[in-house]
Amino acid sequence: SKKTGGANFAFYTQDILVEANNRLTIAAELKRAVAGGELELYLQPQFDIVNQCVVGAEALLRWNHPVKGFLTPADFIHIAEQTRSIRFVTQWLVKEVFSIVERWQAHGHDLFLSFNVSALDLSDFELVDAMHNTARHHNVDAKRIELEIVESAIIENFQSASNILNTLRETGFSVAIDDFGTGYSSLAYLDKLPVDKLKIDREFTGKLGADDQGGVVKSVIDLAANFGLRVIAEGVETPEQEMHLQRLGCARAQGYYYSKPIPVSQFDKTFLQLSRV
Ligand code: C2E
Ligand code: CA
Ligand code: CA
Ligand code: CA
Repeated sequence: SKKTGGANFAFYTQDILVEANNRLTIAAELKRAVAGGELELYLQPQFDIVNQCVVGAEALLRWNHPVKGFLTPADFIHIAEQTRSIRFVTQWLVKEVFSIVERWQAHGHDLFLSFNVSALDLSDFELVDAMHNTARHHNVDAKRIELEIVESAIIENFQSASNILNTLRETGFSVAIDDFGTGYSSLAYLDKLPVDKLKIDREFTGKLGADDQGGVVKSVIDLAANFGLRVIAEGVETPEQEMHLQRLGCARAQGYYYSKPIPVSQFDKTFLQLSRV
């Protein structure tokens, strides 16, 4: 009510200060985390559900925080983006991704690795420079590295984002639109987007079942086919969902049904033998 407004205001102010301080702390800590080896990539396999083999993996970031413990991106990615410290993370990420793929390739495994890129990474050429510089130090086929980007990150800053993505694709890297179907999904944009693959959001995969015959999923699959794009469904949790995807003609899938994201060493032990050699 109006009478307690003053007190509430004091609380709000305090909240804002605590929040601002928290942001600064996380931003400063992330720099230390990158330098001090606190960040770790977890990998989640991507399956070819026609031939039943592993074709690649998605890299997902984890932070082994010395005090707060094991953190997932929900705990820090948003703040990292707002404070621009995501840049340090992405620089580190690019190097990690290249060295993992180089090792796989050297052992004859035909796998790709995708990683997540934020809108901020598409606002200048830092990412392109990092990719090109890192590529010089690793023996890696560019086609084995894929960038995952949410549609809004491309559309909000279309000119800069498409310049950057086009440059990366000219080098041979591939680009996937993440969480497809949840954003603009504008047909007008789709044929102008410099992309190779659509990832069907788990919101739609999760609904596949008795009372959902997969209308949305089918539309995305058809759309992808018409535009000559690959398609993968994420968030597959049950054999029924996989069955629906096979019925609808979706050749690739990712989700807890196959594996949660796991440390790189565990991924190698479990899944390298299931890849095409
Ligand atoms: P995303 O790119 O959409 O990644 C998929 C998220 O869904 C991951 O959460 C993954 O662990 C989770 N997931 C995978 N399969 C299933 C499933 O079957 N069921 C359910 N319920 N969830 C599943 P995670 O690892 O917590 O990552 C969350 C988000 O954080 C990612 O969403 C991505 O947007 C962002 N992120 C992760 N790593 C990075 C990174 O290295 N850089 C940037 N910029 N963002 C990242
Ligand atoms: Ca992703
Ligand atoms: Ca996603
Ligand atoms: Ca997401």
